[in-house]
Amino acid sequence: MITPVLPTYARIDLEFERGEGCWLVTKDGRRYLDFTAGIAVNILGHAHPYLVAALTEQAGKLWHISNLFRIPGGERLATRLTEATFADTVFFTNSGAEALECAIKMARRYHHANGAERPRMITFEGAFHGRTLATIAAGGNAKYLEGFGPDLPGFDQVPFGDVKAVEAALTPQTGSILVEPIQGEGGVRVPPAEFLRSLRALCDAHGMLLVLDEVQSGVGRTGRLFAHEATGITPDIMSVAKGIGGGFPMGACLATEEAAKGMVLGTHGSTYGGNPLAMAVGNAVLDKVLEEGFLERVREASLRFKQSLAAVMDKHPAVLAEVRGEGLLLGLRAQVPAAELVNALRAEGMLVPGAGDNVVRLLPPLTVSDEEIGIACDKIDAACRRLEEAFHLSPVKGAAE
Ligand SMILES: *Cc1c(COP(=O)(O)O)cnc(C)c1O
Repeated sequence: MITPVLPTYARIDLEFERGEGCWLVTKDGRRYLDFTAGIAVNILGHAHPYLVAALTEQAGKLWHISNLFRIPGGERLATRLTEATFADTVFFTNSGAEALECAIKMARRYHHANGAERPRMITFEGAFHGRTLATIAAGGNAKYLEGFGPDLPGFDQVPFGDVKAVEAALTPQTGSILVEPIQGEGGVRVPPAEFLRSLRALCDAHGMLLVLDEVQSGVGRTGRLFAHEATGITPDIMSVAKGIGGGFPMGACLATEEAAKGMVLGTHGSTYGGNPLAMAVGNAVLDKVLEEGFLERVREASLRFKQSLAAVMDKHPAVLAEVRGEGLLLGLRAQVPAAELVNALRAEGMLVPGAGDNVVRLLPPLTVSDEEIGIACDKIDAACRRLEEAFHLSPVKGAAE
């Protein structure tokens, strides 16, 4: 039977009344340690007083005016983002998929402006770029494409991390490469260190644009402002969302002046993109992320968490196979079906999202304390014991799905 809310999500039957930092509290007062963080969104935790103040102050002044008028908060945020990154210009959106749509359009338009039609884009197996028609075509996940054809043409998919396969897939119409520095939904898959550098070199050699999807890996999640900074290369175009609004829906497409040269007056737009509410929160989020020591603290927390997770994994080799990821974009590859681990963790009062590759993601707010990391590891330990008992009784014998 159809429900009033379109039933495209298998929702967990929990009703939260409020959040406090890394914790979510149900109506009846049960507290859950939230290492889902809205899927890598709430980077400053729930109800951060500084964000609440920024939003409510703006809400009392002006919510929305459209991009027909100047929006000073947006000019300020764009300036700050360009000063902090490779980019010269920013287009604000309401979501990650829209930031990707802008990036894909910009890449096609760049070659059009050069008088060459090179609309084809190389993408990677296991990628996730969103749920619009263009982004499901870019992601190439058969499950997300089924029944929504005809698929948007122009995407050529190759195995993640495989530079030779990229070279083999190049055609005269190939104008760009789209890649996540670390695949999030795909299972927290970290490619070899040289991978992005090789893609950069390939783009330079063939006059192609390198487009990075940092929707999940960006805004401090990996312990750098953006994940690609660790590799020493810069992209031509980059899509950002999730953490950039700290829970307020917003995204951004950043680009160099050269890459953006086709996006002239009238070529793109959004009614809500960059509205005053989003810009007030976005500036407030950036204030905190750029504070002295913030990113360093994410790297420290990551190290501590990884070390503790390694110890938990040693105790439970039949449940946990691998700890992977960078910063606080971490994953546990499970020996049992990952969904079982997600459920066992919820029974222990900890919320985590799954991912591809039989991985459970650990995506705490970046403000997570050492104490909370300790609590998380205790809960993971307890969940593993729970699963060891359950699978001892079950005929599945701990085999991966
Ligand atoms: C979540 C995500 C998207 C899509 O963002 P939406 O806001 O859901 O449209 C795109 N790319 C990556 C890497 C993501 O993690």
